[in-house]
Amino acid sequence: MFNWLLRQYANYHCSKNGKNRLNILTYHRVSQTFNPFKPKELSWDMFKEQLVWLKRHFIVLSLPIALDLIEKNQLPPRAVCLTIDDGYSDCYHLIFKTLQEQNIKASFFICTDGIVNGFLWDEEIANVFLQMSTTRTELSILGVTFDVSTYAKRQKSMLSLIELLKYKTLIERELVINELCQITQTTKAPYSFLTKANILEMHQAGMTIGAHTHKHPILCCETYDVAYNQIHKSKLILEDIISEKVDYFAYPNGKYQKDFNIEHMDMLKNMGFKAALSTNWGSLKDLSKERYTIKRFTPWDGTEKRFCFRLASNFSK
Ligand SMILES: [Zn+2]
Repeated sequence: MFNWLLRQYANYHCSKNGKNRLNILTYHRVSQTFNPFKPKELSWDMFKEQLVWLKRHFIVLSLPIALDLIEKNQLPPRAVCLTIDDGYSDCYHLIFKTLQEQNIKASFFICTDGIVNGFLWDEEIANVFLQMSTTRTELSILGVTFDVSTYAKRQKSMLSLIELLKYKTLIERELVINELCQITQTTKAPYSFLTKANILEMHQAGMTIGAHTHKHPILCCETYDVAYNQIHKSKLILEDIISEKVDYFAYPNGKYQKDFNIEHMDMLKNMGFKAALSTNWGSLKDLSKERYTIKRFTPWDGTEKRFCFRLASNFSK
């Protein structure tokens, strides 16, 4: 009964105006064990469950195939795609492994600086807060004094500092991180990113490799040239690894007109990207109008019923 009801509900929302719409889900990192420093991280077990639910009630397609079917007006009802942003090593060790078991082709949007450094800027900050001496009770940076006297306060302060730095330029961010490492006398975070070999193997197994800039800047905070280079560099590095064109892009942070604008959409078009994904919530209704502002959505529910109904209702948003 549940399966039948859900199918009717999803079909109704999916093809309201005659054309079928596409739901694209976004994932980031998944973890094998609960990390109290990152309580919001999705567990691997929940990710595996969600893939089973998706296969049971929806039609899971790769992004290139789904977009191709939309262009031919042949997209089936209840179609969904999976995307995974950033490129941490769990993309290979956990996510890719599960995708292979389930025979699902997903798209990975990778920040290429991580391949060189082993992590991105926010992980560097998390590492400072994890490593700093337990005798330290305060940390002053950017004119703000953060309370680091307990584990819980460290976690809260870490998130506040990440929020504070998110909308700074890359140069400002880097200066603050260098200062932070000096003050706390912490060492480099361990390598926790995809390697070139991982990326090539995933590509050869049919996963789509997409660009996500080099260092994960907020494009709207940077000059035209910096934004252009950040996008272009990540495209070239990934193309060099997979020996094929990189056709898709996901905007860092991804909110239209807050994190990226029409100028960046034009850059992508000129560089030859076929489509770009935002993080604005909704489904893909009209590819000709939304090619460089494609919306995504991921339900947060922990039960099959709620997760699937929320995803189904997103078809009409
Ligand atoms: Zn990202």
